[in-house]
Amino acid sequence: MEYDVLVIGAGSAGLSAALTLGRCRRRVLLADGGAPRNAPSGAVHNFLTRDGVRPAKLLELGRAQLAPYPTVSVQELKISELKKLASGFRATGTTSQGHAWSGTARRVLLATGVDDVLPPLPGFRELWGSGVLHCPYCHGYEVRDQPLAVFGRGKTAVGLALLLTNWSSDIVVVTDGPGHLTAYGRQRLRQHHIGLRQEPVAGLVGGPDGLLRCVEFTDGNYLERKALFLHAPQEQRSSLAADLGAKLNGKGAVWVDKNSQTSIPGLYAAGDTTPGQQQALIAAAEGNKAAICLNEALTKEQVSSAG
Ligand SMILES: Cc1cc2nc3c(=O)[nH]c(=O)nc-3n(C[C@H](O)[C@H](O)[C@H](O)COP(=O)(O)OP(=O)(O)OC[C@H]3O[C@@H](n4cnc5c(N)ncnc54)[C@H](O)[C@@H]3O)c2cc1C
Repeated sequence: MEYDVLVIGAGSAGLSAALTLGRCRRRVLLADGGAPRNAPSGAVHNFLTRDGVRPAKLLELGRAQLAPYPTVSVQELKISELKKLASGFRATGTTSQGHAWSGTARRVLLATGVDDVLPPLPGFRELWGSGVLHCPYCHGYEVRDQPLAVFGRGKTAVGLALLLTNWSSDIVVVTDGPGHLTAYGRQRLRQHHIGLRQEPVAGLVGGPDGLLRCVEFTDGNYLERKALFLHAPQEQRSSLAADLGAKLNGKGAVWVDKNSQTSIPGLYAAGDTTPGQQQALIAAAEGNKAAICLNEALTKEQVSSAG
């Protein structure tokens, strides 16, 4: 096997795992397949010692801190296939120059993240990460006390609107057609002075600053807002786990046991790709934990085969 661990994905989870494994003197290849999930955003918030840093800067710092560890290499490489071997994996992929690549590793860590599936309406993609936001913990403070919209329907929209009341007292739920709200959901909105607009949405209009100016309805009316929050559905960024037959949960996230191992022996996962809260710092912590579990599994294998 060329590597002890192939880490796929060089976001917070992958970089953190590579650092821990490098410090364990493991032969690691970190495959960097492109931009992280938060690339459209101007800043990473809520990350101890790095609050407000640009997403690219956070990863640049992470990569620089791998340099002292001679057993870690980083390659711009998109992995397209994993094959299980008797004692490890063969991975194939394509480098950023378009060359085919293939290599073997005793273990694989998936840190491939997720994609947010935005509504196919004008303005959502353009304003994503600036005027269209997904998480109050990441961006709520920056739009505190501003007029806000919550886009969505049913329980999810009510829950997100109620959560946001800690950041603003001027919130309107925009459902883009029938909101599928229960009587109790409507009552809770009223109780907390949260507005409700159920007209179909034509799109979002942003200002030159990249921030939201208004939600435009198909009847020509509009609603001025500074930011719109939504819980968008998610897709796995890569199908590598599913292709190997790894267990996914009901939402499509890669199931892992308490040692960060998937249902495929030797295949580990960390960060947004797994279930649970999604924050850059949590992804980094999960990468660190998975790396410790990986090192311990590898050590156990070596010690028992030596004995
Ligand atoms: C707009 C926006 C703003 C956000 N702001 C914040 C914030 O302020 N604070 C915060 O804590 N969190 C924020 N988040 C959440 C944060 O981005 C994620 O929790 C974090 O990026 C998860 O890290 P990760 O390493 O699991 O995944 P990612 O950072 O998404 O990294 C996964 C990496 O894997 C790579 N990859 C995927 N498939 C392959 C493959 N086949 N081969 C090789 N590489 C591959 C991807 O290109 C990517 O680089 C934000 C999210 C969004 C969408």
